[in-house]
Amino acid sequence: MTDNQVNQSQDSSVRHSDPAEAKTNLLGMSRVQLEVFFEALGEKKFRAAQLMKWIHQLGVTDFDQMTNMSKVLREMLKSIAEIVVPEIIYEDHSADGTRKWVMRMSGGSSIETVYIPDGGRGTLCVSSQIGCSLDCSFCSTGKQGFNRNLTSAEIIGQLWIAARSFGNGDVSKERSVTNVVFMGMGEPLLNFDNVVPACDIMMEDFAYGISKRRLTVSTSGLVPMIDKLGEVTDVSLAISLHAPNDPLRDVLVPVNKKYPIKDLIAACQRYLNNLPDKRRITIEYTLIEGVNDQVEHAKELVALLRPLPCKINLIPFNPFPNNDYKRPSRNAVMRFQKVLNEAGYVATIRTTRGDDIDAACGQLVGRVEDRTRRSQKYIPVADVTPAVQVTR
Ligand code: SAH
Ligand code: SF4
Repeated sequence: MTDNQVNQSQDSSVRHSDPAEAKTNLLGMSRVQLEVFFEALGEKKFRAAQLMKWIHQLGVTDFDQMTNMSKVLREMLKSIAEIVVPEIIYEDHSADGTRKWVMRMSGGSSIETVYIPDGGRGTLCVSSQIGCSLDCSFCSTGKQGFNRNLTSAEIIGQLWIAARSFGNGDVSKERSVTNVVFMGMGEPLLNFDNVVPACDIMMEDFAYGISKRRLTVSTSGLVPMIDKLGEVTDVSLAISLHAPNDPLRDVLVPVNKKYPIKDLIAACQRYLNNLPDKRRITIEYTLIEGVNDQVEHAKELVALLRPLPCKINLIPFNPFPNNDYKRPSRNAVMRFQKVLNEAGYVATIRTTRGDDIDAACGQLVGRVEDRTRRSQKYIPVADVTPAVQVTR
């Protein structure tokens, strides 16, 4: 348990979700939304930036501590609003520096968030939904079914909690989280209205100041939503491709039947064209033994991606119970990478981090109260859920 965790658990001002309360949770509101909120109260817009600094940079959730606001305003805020952060039910730190949190959401399900340090970078992998409604055949989140979208407060709350676990919790001084990726549980583009304000807060200078180049939304390829994303933000984009042709991708990523590869690549191209700066798409490719890991697949991938400025992230499959797919040998992974490198691509292999705490990519399972009954087809939820340990 970290010192911060002790502080948080002893700090009675930190409050957790209670569905019975109807106050506005200011944690998940972007600066623009807060400006509208304050103007409606007859206050000046600059209050939004003030409040964001308190909440996100200093970690203050108690209005009474916000000393640059008048007592009258603080009382008013207390009567109509609140700052509620997710409840941590499990926290683990791996020997390699990886950290993982399991957070309970209102309704009883839980989600996972992982922090992965790498040289000077610290990447936080956040969840956007409880479970996922898209049933990719190699994904443990997908196999657990779907419960609901996370609110913007529940999404940004993951970063709020991670930021508090470093240094003295003052984000303006201690920037341990330099990158954020939406590669935890869920399909972010199916929770657009909550993901976009959460991204705005992540990038906001008065909050976390994460650069748009270091904030990546990962999607399984929902073409119309990629276009919509490009209209409202300029975060970086990662595509979960996993196959170089439609027949194979139809099996691995079933949403491909609706939005085939050609349309997806065209949407990526449009997204890049709309950006104010020169950037590349990240192509994620989970390597599964004997399924998509052959040299022929790599060559097909090279030809497919030729027109698209991109880098490729190879993810050796992370096994999970009741699934027959296997992780390829290290040689097979290197062989695949070599074909891509020789064709001029930057192709990195995502080293499995945090294996000892089950924090590796694709092993984020949380605990989903499945509403789709999909999980019943595969495995009882309890069997894939890590033992929940209350650490405070
Ligand atoms: N829904 C989004 C983001 C979450 S998935 C998407 O699909 O992009 C995050 C990444 O983990 C995706 O690239 C996904 O394909 C990959 N992944 C899922 N299960 C995995 C597994 N068992 N092993 C390795 N990677 C996996
Ligand atoms: Fe959902 Fe992404 Fe998993 Fe597919 S890979 S089931 S889209 S979380």
